[in-house]
Amino acid sequence: MCGIFAISDNKDASRLAYVGLFTLQHRGQESAGIVTDDNGLLRHSLGMGLVSEIFTKDALETLKGRSAIGHVRYSTTGSSHIKNAQPLVLDSYLGQVAVAHNGNLTNSDGLKEQLQKGGAIFQSTSDTEVILHLMAKHRGSSLSDTLAKNLPKLEGSYAFAFLAPGKLIGARDPHGFRPLVLGKLGKSFMLASETCAIEVAGGKVVREIAPGEMVTIEGGKASFRRFAPAKDFTRCIFEQVYFARPDSVVAGRTVQTSRYEIGALLAREMQGVKADIVSGVPDSGTVYALGFSDESGLPFQTVFMRNHYTGRSFIQPDQRLREFTAHLKLAPIRDVIQGKTIILIDDSLVRGTTSRKIVKSLKKAGARKIIMAIASPAIISPCFYGIDTPSKKELIACNLTVEKIRRFIGADELHYLSLESLVSACGDKKDRNFCVSCFTGKYNTRVDAVAKAYGLPAKAGL
Ligand code: SF4
Repeated sequence: MCGIFAISDNKDASRLAYVGLFTLQHRGQESAGIVTDDNGLLRHSLGMGLVSEIFTKDALETLKGRSAIGHVRYSTTGSSHIKNAQPLVLDSYLGQVAVAHNGNLTNSDGLKEQLQKGGAIFQSTSDTEVILHLMAKHRGSSLSDTLAKNLPKLEGSYAFAFLAPGKLIGARDPHGFRPLVLGKLGKSFMLASETCAIEVAGGKVVREIAPGEMVTIEGGKASFRRFAPAKDFTRCIFEQVYFARPDSVVAGRTVQTSRYEIGALLAREMQGVKADIVSGVPDSGTVYALGFSDESGLPFQTVFMRNHYTGRSFIQPDQRLREFTAHLKLAPIRDVIQGKTIILIDDSLVRGTTSRKIVKSLKKAGARKIIMAIASPAIISPCFYGIDTPSKKELIACNLTVEKIRRFIGADELHYLSLESLVSACGDKKDRNFCVSCFTGKYNTRVDAVAKAYGLPAKAGL
């Protein structure tokens, strides 16, 4: 997961990029970067950590220029290191080019091997650098032609923002796994991973970039072209389940609306289950619990105080850090919990270790029974498209039955939402084009290289 933001033709380009990235901080907290186009010279500033820590007033002042692209990173392919921070900047035959990428290229190992045999020297371990080397090798008459030639060689998921002197380009993979939205602010164009970033930065959302579509913003105008035929539109349903901000619009509705509806459908599926209160694991679980409460009539209560200053446990790439932050961030509210049977809703269950800690802490605080309800189906297969789910070995639902998972997490009951309900809650009939591969094990593209890394057969799930 990563977040990208871009803006053209604006005197406050770097400041607006800061605002956009700050709004997208939930999509990645490892590193951030901004590159500006200062009259044909690309200036950049990158760092490890949060947007507010990296971009001091002084740092922003050095980022002169009227167009900018920015990136917040959470590592998927490539380790957590400053050399993998984005945007990446490369000197090419077309001049300087910067790129910000959200997604995961599933054929990057094979492409990298071919490029290295041809003499390419890679500066990072990130899959994103592959596109820059492909562009150097297979050239077109302009940057957009070069991209149109090379993007179809990539497999997997990508939303890109490219910046070159006088030019800003956005592109989305032919399946549309990862989001990319176009916005306008006066005469400026904006690109962002989520609508919330465009709106917080003062702009208006125009539309999504379509799967397989590229937009070139040059001389104050935007032109659109298709670089590949759209394949089955399979946007990642995990955006609604966990990643996207509740005020962002995905598949025609706010994420908040989808989550509320998921909660209501969960209540319908769990009709007859007896409890005193319903609650959610903050933050995303809270909206699910509100939907559940309204549908079932069961009172909603907050059972945890969340400390917002510890970072997101799922988003920390290192297991040791993940466990440490999980301890820190949720404190049970005793009086609400004591003697109660609680339906507790969480967005997903990945390894089971966090749920186990949560159940333990509620029971220690005096809960009578914990009925765990998961607002998505069991995750039985890894994601190869940019979400950091672990290998099959670590995915608890891949290895244990529901009953065994219940016992492992220490809950009195365990319920999962059905896939049908999840899909129907996330979009209108015409908008239900979702990737659900991690719930089904059936993939939408070849996943060779990454599958190898996970110890799966080369054409896993196809
Ligand atoms: S496999 Fe799952 S997490 Fe990955 S893109 Fe598809 S729905 Fe999203």
